[in-house]
Amino acid sequence: MEEQTEARKKDEKYMKEAIRQAKKAYALGEVPIGCVIVYQDKIIGRGYNRRTIDKNTLAHAEMIAIRKASKRMNDWRLEGCTMYVTLEPCQMCAGAIVQSRLTRVVVGCMNPKAGCAGSILNLLQMKEFNHQAELQTGILGEECSQMMKAFFKELREKKKIVHCASSADSQTLP
Ligand SMILES: [Zn+2]
Repeated sequence: MEEQTEARKKDEKYMKEAIRQAKKAYALGEVPIGCVIVYQDKIIGRGYNRRTIDKNTLAHAEMIAIRKASKRMNDWRLEGCTMYVTLEPCQMCAGAIVQSRLTRVVVGCMNPKAGCAGSILNLLQMKEFNHQAELQTGILGEECSQMMKAFFKELREKKKIVHCASSADSQTLP
């Protein structure tokens, strides 16, 4: 029991780091998703969603973190590493996780519409592939999910303001 709480505390500590990354995305107007990769109790890769500013489908938080961690490990294999990610990975990132042989993945909140770590598929644990990752979901899930909700709420409000402003403009046109 004691050991369990220790492990949980560690998971929460690194999920907080992933949330810090997600907040960087938030500040840039990107969907707030953040990720860190940990090896032997050290963060070896960090990433946050930059898809819109980089105009790049590949710029998901997990892909960026994997690239950095691989560079740091000087190896494409990330055996012995744990990934912490605020939102359930998509099919691309789940695929990259399997390819990189990451040992363990810890997820904040689930993504019912696109998640591939249990929602739509569980690509991380298909016995047909040569690698399966251990999976833990729901670590600081509420906090991660609130962050997403706040982001989309703000986005909807901004759109409303833009919409109102443009209709006001059109009324002043001759
Ligand atoms: Zn992804």
